[in-house]
Amino acid sequence: MKAGDPLLRVEDLTKAFGGVRAVDHLSLAVPRGELRCVIGPNGAGKSTLFALLSGIHRPDAGRIEFKGEVITHLSPFKRVRKGLCQKFQTPRVYRGLTVGQNLLIARGRRHGTNGRLAFALSRLSLADRTETLAGELPHSEQQWLEICLALATEPDLLLLDEPTAGMTPQETSLTADFVLELNRQGVTVLVVEHDMAFVRQIAHRV
Ligand code: ADP
Ligand code: MG
Repeated sequence: MKAGDPLLRVEDLTKAFGGVRAVDHLSLAVPRGELRCVIGPNGAGKSTLFALLSGIHRPDAGRIEFKGEVITHLSPFKRVRKGLCQKFQTPRVYRGLTVGQNLLIARGRRHGTNGRLAFALSRLSLADRTETLAGELPHSEQQWLEICLALATEPDLLLLDEPTAGMTPQETSLTADFVLELNRQGVTVLVVEHDMAFVRQIAHRV
């Protein structure tokens, strides 16, 4: 990666499903350190954009560069290894496993202390829940757990798809404070969100 390169660069990205152009010639650049919000009505293609960035879908055209390297056709797990990790719109935790087991799986072969993860678990009231089954957590805490699972992979770029969906105003505000603090600690964040109170609380650029 050259100095001055953005962490993420998207050029002319296009993805259609049948006749629906979910993402249509989209270009954007996210510099390292930024906290960027993507807003748009339902069906605008926000989740599809994230699916292209994380490698769930392949684009019909266009390219994706991460840390100066073309990753357009890289598999999702290789993108995670490079430091790009996504929290999905609907939480994808292992509901039948405990919080601790979910974290163990997410960490994989990464050993040693992960300060950001420890900070996240304590801020998001999950630190003393390691024995709780993930499926028994309230919805908001499942959302938080999935953010923690993403942080367990030590991402440089974190993609958050509607992280406050279904949360109370208090939980939304706590999540916004948390994301701001995470960003101050050096994680670049790209977030899709409907909740304008959340967006106002955090956005650098929208
Ligand atoms: P958003 O996240 O902004 O609400 P989506 O990216 O989920 O929007 O969807 C954008 C458009 O693409 C919608 O019209 C949606 O119906 C369509 N779409 C998304 N995923 C698929 C898919 N896997 N198959 C077919 N159509 C899809
Ligand atoms: Mg969506």
